[in-house]
Amino acid sequence: MTRIHRHARRTLTVLMVSTAMVVASAQTRIVPPKNKYAPADDVKLGQEAAAQVRQQLPLVDDRQLDDWVERVGRRLVDAIPSQFQQPAFRYTFDEVNQKEINAFALPGGPMFLNRGMIEAAHSEGEVAGVMAHELSHVFLRHGTAQATKGERFQIGAVAGQVLGAIIGGTAGSVIAQGSQFGLGAYFMKFSREYERQADLMGAQLLARAGYDPREMATLFKTLEAEGGNSGPEWLSDHPNPGNRYDAIIREAQTLTIANRQPATGEFQSMQSRLKGMKPAYTAEQIAQMQKSGRVQDSPTGTSGRTVQVSAPSTQYRTYQAGNLLRVSVPSNWQPYGSGNTVTYAPEGAYFQQQNGGSAFTHGMEVGVTQGTGDLARDTQQLLRSFAQSNPQLRQQGSARRENVGGRQGITAVLTNVSEVTGQPEQIELSTAQLRDNSLLYVIGVAPRTDADVYQGTFRRVRQGMQINDR
Ligand SMILES: [Zn+2]
Repeated sequence: MTRIHRHARRTLTVLMVSTAMVVASAQTRIVPPKNKYAPADDVKLGQEAAAQVRQQLPLVDDRQLDDWVERVGRRLVDAIPSQFQQPAFRYTFDEVNQKEINAFALPGGPMFLNRGMIEAAHSEGEVAGVMAHELSHVFLRHGTAQATKGERFQIGAVAGQVLGAIIGGTAGSVIAQGSQFGLGAYFMKFSREYERQADLMGAQLLARAGYDPREMATLFKTLEAEGGNSGPEWLSDHPNPGNRYDAIIREAQTLTIANRQPATGEFQSMQSRLKGMKPAYTAEQIAQMQKSGRVQDSPTGTSGRTVQVSAPSTQYRTYQAGNLLRVSVPSNWQPYGSGNTVTYAPEGAYFQQQNGGSAFTHGMEVGVTQGTGDLARDTQQLLRSFAQSNPQLRQQGSARRENVGGRQGITAVLTNVSEVTGQPEQIELSTAQLRDNSLLYVIGVAPRTDADVYQGTFRRVRQGMQINDR
């Protein structure tokens, strides 16, 4: 299902940041910088940016590599000290099929490792080193801390700008144009103080996860030796806070490596898998693919993607949507968008598109649109407008009267072909009339093959909505 969203804008004000580090003979105590945002803001921002990244960068499609990176990532996540654990964060690990040596993590948990970074490393511990550093930025919440101390800017605009900073050096790219606004830098290029925190915290994390923290230091040495005069992109996004190598080694001396794991040879086997693949794309090639809309080797940019999401949770969470609605959805769904249209979708099911629109493969969208007071006619009108942006949309059978948020509404079942996966999907569109004659609509979307699983969820969500339009 494809929709065009406009994001509400929030402005931020200036706040002082103070960071404190206590140096003792024991390991360095890291104090996260001041942050005026809620952890949920990190999650929302990161998920929106990650949806764009997954759409606009080619990912490596290799189950074994995925599994290995995931295992390394989980080991590190499991080692996050309890005082820094963020229950709302969801840590994910993707490999970008890009040659340049880089890696980045977005607020709230999504991490992306360039294939070039994995190829440049000499051991699993070195890959774990860069991941531990990135993870530390995430759970110390450096992205939104940076925004906290920044000048006023619009947080809604940021997700769209993040990519420009990520790609780097691809001036011709559609998304790289974002970097001319300089906002991406708020999230992607950290201060030296944050870099110092991520280095030392990363070293501590490695030791807790059973890796030798000195391997992070050796990776940084490798990176400095790479990439000619300016070095790899990663180093300019994560500037050396000064004596980086020595500081990590010193920290390592205070640490005990827990449950050190014997080397398994897995890293070598991953390296030979990568060597056997077609070469990774360069930043320049990726920019060309974006221009011609052919990222992921597919003609429409997203069509043909495989989307895997977890089934709807049986636990529900309630959200306030605008001042009009309260919506209870499965607790593993997140809200995307704001204002008059909100989509609730599980992780991995929501996609931002270059045209400013968005698409989702699983989940529900709730919105309000103009109406005339004639529910049947307004519903037909809405269906026609959806059909314009979804040319394969077809109605199945006739619409039925049904409870929507406690009033008598209309529900129609439709079929469509997902723009994201290219596969058939089933849509349940429900409408109800509001007191000012505007039209409330609720759309449930699921792949045809999963429609049975989602039907009950969709019914429960639309019937359980609370409408407050008095
Ligand atoms: Zn860093």
